[in-house]
Amino acid sequence: MYSIKESLAAELAEIREAGLEKAEREITTPQGPRIRAALVGQPQREVLNFCANNYLGLADHPDLIEAAKDALDRHGFGMASVRFICGTQDIHLALESQVSDFVGTEATILFSSCFDANAAVFEPLFGAGDAIVSDELNHASIIDGVRLSKAARFRYRNRDMSDLRAQLQAARDGGARRVVVVTDGVFSMDGYLAPLPEICDAAEEAGALVMVDDSHAVGFMGETGAGTPEHFGVSDRIDIWTGTFGKALGGASGGYVSGRREIVDLLRQRGRPYLFSNSLAPSIVAATLRALELVREAGELRTRLVENAAQFRARMSEEGFDLLDGEHAIVPVMFGDASLASSIAARMLELGVFVTAFSYPVVPKGKARIRVQLSAAHSPEQVEECVTAFVRARTSLDAGAPLDELAADDADA
Ligand SMILES: *Cc1c(COP(=O)(O)O)cnc(C)c1O
Repeated sequence: MYSIKESLAAELAEIREAGLEKAEREITTPQGPRIRAALVGQPQREVLNFCANNYLGLADHPDLIEAAKDALDRHGFGMASVRFICGTQDIHLALESQVSDFVGTEATILFSSCFDANAAVFEPLFGAGDAIVSDELNHASIIDGVRLSKAARFRYRNRDMSDLRAQLQAARDGGARRVVVVTDGVFSMDGYLAPLPEICDAAEEAGALVMVDDSHAVGFMGETGAGTPEHFGVSDRIDIWTGTFGKALGGASGGYVSGRREIVDLLRQRGRPYLFSNSLAPSIVAATLRALELVREAGELRTRLVENAAQFRARMSEEGFDLLDGEHAIVPVMFGDASLASSIAARMLELGVFVTAFSYPVVPKGKARIRVQLSAAHSPEQVEECVTAFVRARTSLDAGAPLDELAADDADA
């Protein structure tokens, strides 16, 4: 009989043969613009890192490390409880209040991750008789969260406002009671922003709420870093905000739902990942509080991030690479062919620059790309090194020359 072990092995082999296996790189340094890394089992090497969500460079910031150490002394290591039993410290409440203050909402509830925040938010708020209208490219955690709700589901084409209107109409025609439009603030594979003003208009006409998952923007988009709603000047039109502490805001872990008080209060009573999962660790809470303080004063870091992204986009265009247009620190360099994108990324790693190639099914067939992510911690010289590595990797593949020969040429020069 065909055993479970054999069928799992066959499934794994299928993934491997399709070239879809994800291999981890082992890093032996703190996260930062320059790290030591290698595929597990291979010798470590120093590389420039252009694939972290470390947008403001806070992941190894000394103030955050100090705040975390201090919290270990004052607040201990763990809470050994969910929030509502005995897992709420003063700093958990302070962080909720600070997030509300930062994004400009009435109330906030913490989760262990934004994945959990999105898993929690739909089921208590939208049930049978309600409707959720969701962008087709929304994050996996939104898709999973929507699945947990009994509401009717409508999907609109990515950032397509006429399709959004059609789906809102369909929801209304179906007699939906509560309707919510949900979108990522920034779509992570393209770096495209959701057109929030138009989304708010369409939702308002249909009497629908608007929810934005701003994980790839909170901390660095908008004048004060409050995210894409601030960037577009529509903060007061957003009903539900979710976001992560695991990207620009220090990069450790944790997430939140923020917005109208009644929404947050109901999630405290009914949100399953809140009721049945442990409190965020005190050291992470305290360091994230410090991260929010830093981000408030981080105008300069935000400017540097914008400049780094602009420099990279301009230089890569000059070198003839095909980029997706945009202004975000996610810059997709398009190759089309999956094996070309992954060969370029592999060559670049040999040249000391760590970037990641993405292909189907993460992005559409024929749209393989290398997604570069800039950080405020990159120097202009490091950004230029990244561009140079792209050029050299392309040249070496065009010439069909093994990379070590090119490297040898360099050594001679
Ligand atoms: C990264 C991300 C998440 C997940 O955040 P975690 O806190 O790591 O769980 C959710 N939504 C979006 C849009 C994201 O980019």
